[in-house]
Amino acid sequence: MTVAYLGLGANLGDARQTLKDAVVCLAQQHTISVLAKSSFYRTAPIDAGGDDYFNCVVKLDTTSPVRHLLALCHKIEHHFGRERPFRNAPRTLDLDILLYGEQSIEEPDLIVPHPRLVERAFVLVPLLEIEPALIIPQRGRADAFLASVAQQRIEKVKSPCQCPMLSALADTGDTAKGTCS
Ligand code: ADP
Ligand code: MG
Repeated sequence: MTVAYLGLGANLGDARQTLKDAVVCLAQQHTISVLAKSSFYRTAPIDAGGDDYFNCVVKLDTTSPVRHLLALCHKIEHHFGRERPFRNAPRTLDLDILLYGEQSIEEPDLIVPHPRLVERAFVLVPLLEIEPALIIPQRGRADAFLASVAQQRIEKVKSPCQCPMLSALADTGDTAKGTCS
């Protein structure tokens, strides 16, 4: 089993609902246990036009080798209607591997830790919410990079209900659009 962190983002369609459904979809995979999920954040697009994004980060335990995990991310993106008309185009769902255990990978189609992890508040802030003392392989403490992203607009989305019981029910996945295999 390997602990991995995924960054999720969406700014097309019902982006917030898509993020919820995508987390359920990840949890339904037999190769994945979802250990933690950050709050949702509303963030400004960076190097791109389009609507604001919704973002979150999930922490996983997975039996999948990293290449299988990348393929699964692409499959789930496709399931949620992801299209790539041009670079940084608005997207129904983006799933990025931020960290995969302690591994450092530098291949043409897979770079881990994710190269823009420490440059983006929309990744760094939710990541630190669930892992405040995180150390990034070869980069050091993640929180040391917070100051450099402080100008990027990011706002935590309030949960519609602060009641723990109802929030837990809302997270069970009953609202997901069908199963995701
Ligand atoms: P973005 O860089 O905005 O996330 P895409 O989601 O279209 O853009 O991803 C482009 C390519 O980035 C993917 O085809 C994938 O092979 C590659 N890639 C490299 N490293 C990673 C990573 N750590 N996680 C996800 N995709 C990655
Ligand atoms: Mg991506």
